[in-house]
Amino acid sequence: MTQSKDLWTKSTCAYCGVGCGIEAQIQASGELTIRGDKSHPANYGDLCSKGLALGETVTHEGRLLHPSIDGEQSDWATSLQHVADTFSQTIAEHGPDSVAFYVSGQLLTEDYYVANKLMKGFIGSGNIDTNSRLCMSSTVAGHKRGFGSDTVPGCYEDLDTAELVVITGSNLAWCHPVLFQRLKKQKTQRDNLFIVVIDPRETDTCSIADLHLAIQPETDVALFNGLLSYLVAHNKIDKDYIDNYSEGFEAALNSAQQDAQCIQVLAETLQVNEQKIALFFKHFAETEKAITIFSQGVNQSTQGSNKVNSIINCHIATGRIGKPGMGPFSVTGQPNAMGGREVGGLANTLAAHMEFGDEHANQLISDFWRTDTLATQPGLKAVDLFDAMHQGKIKAIWIMATNPVVSIPNSNKVREALEKCPFVVVSDCIAETATTEYANVLLPAQGWSEKSGTVTNSERRISRQRRLLSSPGVAKPDWWIMSEVAKRMGFAEAFNFLHEGEVFSEFAKMTTLDNENGLNRDLNLIGLTQLDAKGYSQLTPQQWPVTELQTEVVQQRLFADKQFFTTSKKAQFVAVSSTPIVNSSTPSLIKYPLIVNSGRIRDQWHTMTRTGLSSRLAAHITEPFVAIHPDDAAPLSIEDNNLVAINSPQGAMLVRALLTKQQKVGQIFTPIHWNRQTAKTANVCNLVNDDNDPVSGQPALKSTQANIKKW
Ligand code: SF4
Repeated sequence: MTQSKDLWTKSTCAYCGVGCGIEAQIQASGELTIRGDKSHPANYGDLCSKGLALGETVTHEGRLLHPSIDGEQSDWATSLQHVADTFSQTIAEHGPDSVAFYVSGQLLTEDYYVANKLMKGFIGSGNIDTNSRLCMSSTVAGHKRGFGSDTVPGCYEDLDTAELVVITGSNLAWCHPVLFQRLKKQKTQRDNLFIVVIDPRETDTCSIADLHLAIQPETDVALFNGLLSYLVAHNKIDKDYIDNYSEGFEAALNSAQQDAQCIQVLAETLQVNEQKIALFFKHFAETEKAITIFSQGVNQSTQGSNKVNSIINCHIATGRIGKPGMGPFSVTGQPNAMGGREVGGLANTLAAHMEFGDEHANQLISDFWRTDTLATQPGLKAVDLFDAMHQGKIKAIWIMATNPVVSIPNSNKVREALEKCPFVVVSDCIAETATTEYANVLLPAQGWSEKSGTVTNSERRISRQRRLLSSPGVAKPDWWIMSEVAKRMGFAEAFNFLHEGEVFSEFAKMTTLDNENGLNRDLNLIGLTQLDAKGYSQLTPQQWPVTELQTEVVQQRLFADKQFFTTSKKAQFVAVSSTPIVNSSTPSLIKYPLIVNSGRIRDQWHTMTRTGLSSRLAAHITEPFVAIHPDDAAPLSIEDNNLVAINSPQGAMLVRALLTKQQKVGQIFTPIHWNRQTAKTANVCNLVNDDNDPVSGQPALKSTQANIKKW
């Protein structure tokens, strides 16, 4: 692609759910210069280290350049036909539920839409799930239970006016750095801003905290149940809101009161001193403009959905939703986790926030897609999907833009499942990952800077990602690859897309189905249904619902009118109880006395296929590590930098010890990123078992029992 020297092209960052706008310029040398987009409301020109280094990661090194079948280079026509024939044959022999797609929050909304349309609309199975299952599905479940829809009520602007910000289960400083910097700026400018961080670890996020509650892992529900009880006991609830705009308060309060009878008991459960808990409760009770930010420390748990609802309960009880500077606020992990949720990327949802079991909605979709084979029930969620593969029930899988061997718990089982599966297709931009080695067919996909489409960030803002560079080899967009397979499976009419803009336009129209009958839906893109190719090309960020094309920056909050998307239109309290995962009577604690927490580090992303290419980013932390308190290390004669083995009932990993008092005694932390050559030795998913949230299916990636030994 040629561009004049002064031309900067607007796009979005490839990484976290903040969804920062960037501007890119191609230099004469072919290198890409990146700067923040000052006009983008997610970041107003700011970028973190990862965003600034995007230009260093667009090398063609390690890229998948050509399709291949059973290790032999092939061409597109042969490979697409082979994939279509094998999927069709498998479906004919074993039924639609014998095949599956496993997709990714790295896909653009257009890719996600086509994948979902093919699997749920035409193959007729719900078996499409996404790595967002590992990231946000507990929030999705919590939103649906509380609000009747998967709606994030607020927007980033709320951080600029909130007077209490509670950050729980999130190292915002490393995982959503631009939002953290925005908050830090507020903290330095305003005396009336109080910040509470709730995290077992003392992370960098604590640097702006007025109060840090280093709670025991998996005690979050007890804490927020305690808060609800406190609010009632101190007459700090909004009775009018509860009586007129919500349901289920008494049951939720009963559960809360049984869970946390008094602050003294709570202090013992949380292992946090009473004064600190009381201070948090007092601030929440007395500060109207309160936001609770939450992320993976809440979601990645066997009680993730209950944690989310325990937070939402406190906001409903105080009427603090849908108003400036207040509300529960989930920050998503991946760049397009929200976009995937919108088009039905999760196995248990349909597109455009419509649901299985809603006959009217199902008919609308069938008519819209002109299909009579729409899936009628949810498919398998990620962990169950790989389980079913392990049991021989899934006979063909297509994995797109993700690396489940190093990201789904119980890696050994995932490997065995892929080995057993008769037909594995992997489409990816990277040639060698821990997953590609199991592929019968490899399909080269375009990477960030080559592909074009849309993403949605954590505040419901849809932004364009734009093509900046040409693709190496014969890499193609994911939506195109799937459409070509769909055509060869006999669904040509429904997948005759010429351009990603046509896919987006179809999706936008889908969000308006039944508008004339007053169907009240959160995700409505009616203002984008008339976009022509030029309009799509020039589309500026749009925050949904988009009732008309937004030509200025819009800051919207859902539920300002106190109308929710439940049948009764009322917000729902959910009665939740705390269930500690481990206690002193658990026998395995003797053999496995430590709790392993896992997460991201500041300068790496997922399995490092992109960020690992930047030497600047690699300089931050150079190798995998386990953070351990000196009091845990000393009896085992472990010193800083010693190589140590971490063992769980599931497996083992080998890393260097980092002694730090930022860890609590009895808890260790290790990052999720390292893979490829080190996948079998430094991958935390080797340790984690299949336990997941019974409501959301989200695996518990932050509370594995393990022991540690000097190597
Ligand atoms: Fe990219 Fe997130 Fe950093 Fe923004 S905060 S530049 S979206 S990684």
